Amino acid sequence: MNRSREAIIEAVRGQMPEKRWAHTLGVMQTSIELAVRFGGDPTRAELAAILHDVAKYWSTDRMERIIREEQLPAILLEHDKQLWHAPVGAFVAEQEFGIMDVEVLDAIRYHTSGRVQMTLMDKIVCLADYIEPGRDFPGVNNIRQLANHSLEEGLIAGFDSTIELLLSRRKRIFPLTIDARNDLIQQLGG
Ligand code: FE
Ligand code: FE
Repeated sequence: MNRSREAIIEAVRGQMPEKRWAHTLGVMQTSIELAVRFGGDPTRAELAAILHDVAKYWSTDRMERIIREEQLPAILLEHDKQLWHAPVGAFVAEQEFGIMDVEVLDAIRYHTSGRVQMTLMDKIVCLADYIEPGRDFPGVNNIRQLANHSLEEGLIAGFDSTIELLLSRRKRIFPLTIDARNDLIQQLGG
């Protein structure tokens, strides 16, 4: 089954408050721009962006049930619930929206945490999520500047800002994010 872009948009929009939908529109537009700039597929990047936060406003119980029943990585349950909507969203994209494109599903799955060996699609959606026009946090303009010439430089700065925030709040840091950052630095020869 392949639902049309419009049908998917309407279905996803209904899962979240208008404010989060505005964010999703921003991520869609920015993903298209980054795909064009860095040689990705704008149509598939946009599809991942449409769906990336589909589970963001689901209840903790509903997400936890899917993580347990579908045997998503159990380590998620030991970390911040904010991380859960990404792998749960990938599951929903596949099961409820019939998305079969593994790169699209992975871009949804890893948009919050990152991972080692991020694909071009992963990088586009993850970075778009940091810098879409509605985002406003310390350092976002620096990340936008870096994103003009390098996905990797933009993402490293994005992960740095996330890690710095977690450090300042004495929160746990999800290991995959540290791994993702280290891997990107390595990719740039560092
Ligand atoms: Fe998200
Ligand atoms: Fe998002």
